[in-house]
Amino acid sequence: MKSLLSVVFLTAFVLADCLHEPVAAKQRWPNLIVIMADDLGYSDVGFNGSTDIPTPHIDSIASNGVRFSSGYTTYTVCSPSRAGLITGRYPQRFGFERNPQYRPADKNMGLPQDEQTLADVLKERGYSTGIIGKWHLGANREAHHPLERGFDEFFGHLGGSHRYFPHELTIKDSYSISNEGKSSRTWIMRDHKPVKVDSYLTDEFSDEAVAFIERHQGKPFFLFLSYNAPHTPLQATSKYLSRFGSIQNNKRRTYAAMVSAMDDGIGRVLQRLKALNLEKDSMIVFLSDNGGPIHNGSRNNPLRGKKGTPYEGGFRVPFALQWPGNVKAGLVIDQPVSTLDIFATMAALCDIEINKEQPLDGLNLMPLLNGNTEAFDSRPIYLRMHDKQAFTIRRGQYKLVIPEQDSQAELYNLNADIGESHDLSAEQPQLVQSLSAQLNAWADQLGTPKFKGLIHTKRRQNKFKKKSGLQLH
Ligand code: CA
Repeated sequence: MKSLLSVVFLTAFVLADCLHEPVAAKQRWPNLIVIMADDLGYSDVGFNGSTDIPTPHIDSIASNGVRFSSGYTTYTVCSPSRAGLITGRYPQRFGFERNPQYRPADKNMGLPQDEQTLADVLKERGYSTGIIGKWHLGANREAHHPLERGFDEFFGHLGGSHRYFPHELTIKDSYSISNEGKSSRTWIMRDHKPVKVDSYLTDEFSDEAVAFIERHQGKPFFLFLSYNAPHTPLQATSKYLSRFGSIQNNKRRTYAAMVSAMDDGIGRVLQRLKALNLEKDSMIVFLSDNGGPIHNGSRNNPLRGKKGTPYEGGFRVPFALQWPGNVKAGLVIDQPVSTLDIFATMAALCDIEINKEQPLDGLNLMPLLNGNTEAFDSRPIYLRMHDKQAFTIRRGQYKLVIPEQDSQAELYNLNADIGESHDLSAEQPQLVQSLSAQLNAWADQLGTPKFKGLIHTKRRQNKFKKKSGLQLH
């Protein structure tokens, strides 16, 4: 009898190990849902002060958990920012500093194959992994497709933007074209198969997210809900536009409707999680991939700058997280955090061993969320934009900015001057020196861009040269 019991126990232990469940933990590893908006302005959510675009469901993530007032992405445009999130590493380390051209035939025009993704490591831990929406990390079927990069499921588009009305999606085969503009008209892919959709794209993605959660409720999952909204083109249905009759400006009205559609969808996702009793098992992060570009109707006030600039409006984004039962509700955290921290947090929670050749750049957020700010108080946030030779470092309340090649370093105290309007560099030369030294030490570790980008297409190259006076290489 005794030996039989031992066998039963041993079998249970081995089984648990095979299923990659934490044996000693009281609860299972958390589901992770990363909800990313595209080109959403810093102040275009209620929790950051928006008054004309109500976002009650997005706001509920902040009020059920934490609002990060200083949440940063690793880049100021879409694709490198996503490369940082998905690898947990500064993309400048591995030559990913440009929006790629849409080139299905090019294995180098996207996320390098030797970089590990968050989906890779969570899948290895037994998670079901899925991405819904925008990918934008390369269009090559073998090297870049989400199913080759750790995801079990994909429902979305490979390129950087997409049209929202089904009748405008006229190109069936995503691999038949080699042009970013045309890629916005391709059919949606379900895994590798082109499918026709019949609703407004944001609604489609929300429906898919709800279905994904239902399908995978039984074991830990990672869902990357990567809305392309509210990236251009500005397109919304009358259902959402009718909510914003009071906004006179056409762009702003359509943009508001697009954000509202996304908020509705997020509401449905949250509601379904609750109904399935998965709320306490799920960490949900909401954020934007970069700052608002303004031209789509977005606003970053009170921050200076916009998408594509090294000022705060370029890469400080709406950022909130909930995990009821594990993270206190109603927290506001002002210490700088980064999209890099999402990978690092999951790595810590799930005992993931990290490749020493490719160390993570983020920090585990759990100590900070439990009140221990030590590791975060002076943790640096870095940015390099290779083509402009723009650099920044933020440490504590201070930020050093070199806005473009050969320009003088500017110094701002973000606590006193969130709009970066009063340059303190002449008053505090020692601080400039110390921040410059730290920034240079980081920059010395970086590679150079591994592929030419959208910026090298003729039209953009001319625009860049005209604006900056710099020659692209
Ligand atoms: Ca973007």
